[in-house]
Amino acid sequence: MIKILEKLLSIIYIQPCYFCKSIKDDNIICKKCYNKIHFMPPAVFREFSGVKVYACCLYDDIIKQLIKDLKYNGKKKLAALHAKLMFDYIQELHFKEKYVIVPVPISNQRRKERKYNHMELVAYELKKLTDYTVNKDILIRIKDTQKQYNLHKQERIKNIKNAFSLSENAGMPIDTPLLIIDDITSTGITFEEIIKTFHKNGYKNITAISLATPDIWN
Ligand SMILES: [Zn+2]
Repeated sequence: MIKILEKLLSIIYIQPCYFCKSIKDDNIICKKCYNKIHFMPPAVFREFSGVKVYACCLYDDIIKQLIKDLKYNGKKKLAALHAKLMFDYIQELHFKEKYVIVPVPISNQRRKERKYNHMELVAYELKKLTDYTVNKDILIRIKDTQKQYNLHKQERIKNIKNAFSLSENAGMPIDTPLLIIDDITSTGITFEEIIKTFHKNGYKNITAISLATPDIWN
């Protein structure tokens, strides 16, 4: 009896849009909300030491809520949407490489507070949509940095300097194509520091992509 009831419920259950609660599309994001997202043109956003950095869309209302709820409010199911939006943008870039996805790591201290690194979840969701693999262990955060958004540029640079290192146990051939992924980028200094860390260790085939950017003018 319970089984039949469950089955019936699953048939009539319609997933409302996470953002506007509309039940029109039976999707985590409805078409109306998806169309509000401002995707960036398929072009390089920044470049550091020859490494191309991309940003998929603008950091406006829907993306803000998506990142905040996924990162701080335990809404892990949003990792799939985060990855899907990245995937939609990546398709426009026509990447040729079979990348190893490297999520930007968090420090042990942050992991204790938040219980998980949301970018790791996104990496595994992105893997499902592509033929890429994931290496969440090669890059480690050795410095517990302060939150970047309320700091000035010079303070941010100082704050993030030497924050990363490579794990000795996670050796990969240095010609492995790496795709570093993050949620937000503005001046790109987190990516820049990570790129430096990989370059120092001989890795040259690197691309970086962030879901969102709060500014396109800086
Ligand atoms: Zn909606």
